[in-house]
Amino acid sequence: MTNAIWFDPSLCLIGGAWQSPVTAQSLPLVNPSDGSEICQIARGVASDIDAAVVAARAALDGEWGRMPAFERGRILSRLGRLVLDRVEDLAVLEAKDVGKPLTQARADAVALARYCEFYGGAADKVMGETIPYLDGYTVYTLREPHGVTGHIVPWNYPMQIIGRSVGAALAMGNACVLKPAEEACLTALAFAHLATEAGLPAGALNVVPGLGAEAGAALSGHPGVDHISFTGSVATGALVQQAAGRNVVPVTLELGGKSPQLVFDDADLGAALPFLVNAGIQNAGQTCSASSRILVQRGVYDQVKARMAEAYGQLTVGPAMDDLRVGPLISDRQKSIVSGFLAKGEDLTIAARGQITPDAPETGAYVQPTLFADVPADHVLAQDEIFGPVQVLIPFETEKQALTIANSTDYGLVASIWTRDGARQMRLAKRLRSGQVFINNYGAGGGVELPFGGVGKSGHGREKGFEALYGFSQLKTVAAFHG
Ligand code: NAD
Repeated sequence: MTNAIWFDPSLCLIGGAWQSPVTAQSLPLVNPSDGSEICQIARGVASDIDAAVVAARAALDGEWGRMPAFERGRILSRLGRLVLDRVEDLAVLEAKDVGKPLTQARADAVALARYCEFYGGAADKVMGETIPYLDGYTVYTLREPHGVTGHIVPWNYPMQIIGRSVGAALAMGNACVLKPAEEACLTALAFAHLATEAGLPAGALNVVPGLGAEAGAALSGHPGVDHISFTGSVATGALVQQAAGRNVVPVTLELGGKSPQLVFDDADLGAALPFLVNAGIQNAGQTCSASSRILVQRGVYDQVKARMAEAYGQLTVGPAMDDLRVGPLISDRQKSIVSGFLAKGEDLTIAARGQITPDAPETGAYVQPTLFADVPADHVLAQDEIFGPVQVLIPFETEKQALTIANSTDYGLVASIWTRDGARQMRLAKRLRSGQVFINNYGAGGGVELPFGGVGKSGHGREKGFEALYGFSQLKTVAAFHG
């Protein structure tokens, strides 16, 4: 394992060349475990984005645009192997940059490799169809790339989100411009270095770090971009959609969530318990598909509350490199947002809290994981996305009531049902307003093969799985009259 950054983090990748942003300005990257500065990253602005879009277009007009699908797949598969070779290095970068405990950072690096493998294998398996039509015609469809795709990603899961979005876009033959989050972008830069090493032609992937209001806004409003994939907050997603709308460009939005788990009296509690807690505290709760609402039927409510409280009592929070269950939040700003929510819960019962380890630096962005009990379904803590290690327990009596509560927020990303009743499983899986439903398990974003995305304010469009390949392509219908 090496702790070093093996590349120059202050540069952008544009048209195959690592270069300084035009303004030569930089931004500090902060380690949230102790508040120290890790390094300076590029502060890309509109003209860097413009150069990246031009370079992407040139790649489409050149070698990349002509490359057979199986060759694109080979490059992605090679990239997957390079990522696997560097799992430890990538995990250390992510742990320092995001504050993610090392074990969780390692899992993200392995997931990035899986995305490259999955989309590498899928690149030459996306096909059109022939369509029966009028006498004298042959009609068929072609799946073609959009062209230049923009990818704006957040700080919470840089590797996984880049894997699912850039991986699928490249597999379909798009040329990408990636704008990583200003809070965490080391693994995005590392990924781009590995992509070059894997043989990705110049301009097929361009990376311009920078501020959202500068580089991000420039990318989402650029008239040379043909599709935008955005993952982040609802407020920014709405801005991105407006900007893309002015250019009449399609957008995939992966936004937030308030995902529920529904625990019925007949559930296997032993199986459920680890999922109930982990889905809330993984990555310190900074997960779009975090399960922040636990709905429990009256007959087992006290038991679930007691067992979850016991688990919370054992949670320790500390520096990412100490690899405890919970690390710091991404920043002091995020800490004050989460603390603000905790203050709004002063009228509620706290069932249990985790502990911050005594040797955690005071300059780190730590909060105590908190489990609230007996929370009214319309309480702000049961409705708003907190993006911190905070879960609420909500009791219910009947299946109908559980469904009403589950569907009562603006969001709809992931839901899970814990019950042995097969009919209830099927019924609720249909009626839950959610992009994914898990039965007797919970996958917070897990499974590269599984289409993922939201309804309502959780966004629209699907990434991951084969579905993403359709999203990153458009269908052309060819109708040939031959008599
Ligand atoms: P954010 O919206 O502030 O930032 C996300 C990205 O957008 C960053 O790269 C940022 O630089 C960029 N950005 C900011 N302002 C912009 C603008 N005006 N134009 C274009 N780009 C801009 O979100 P965040 O605080 O970094 O992330 C947290 C949020 O993201 C949470 O709400 C979370 O639920 C959501 N999220 C969703 C998913 C998902 O898959 N559904 C995954 C991760 C995070």
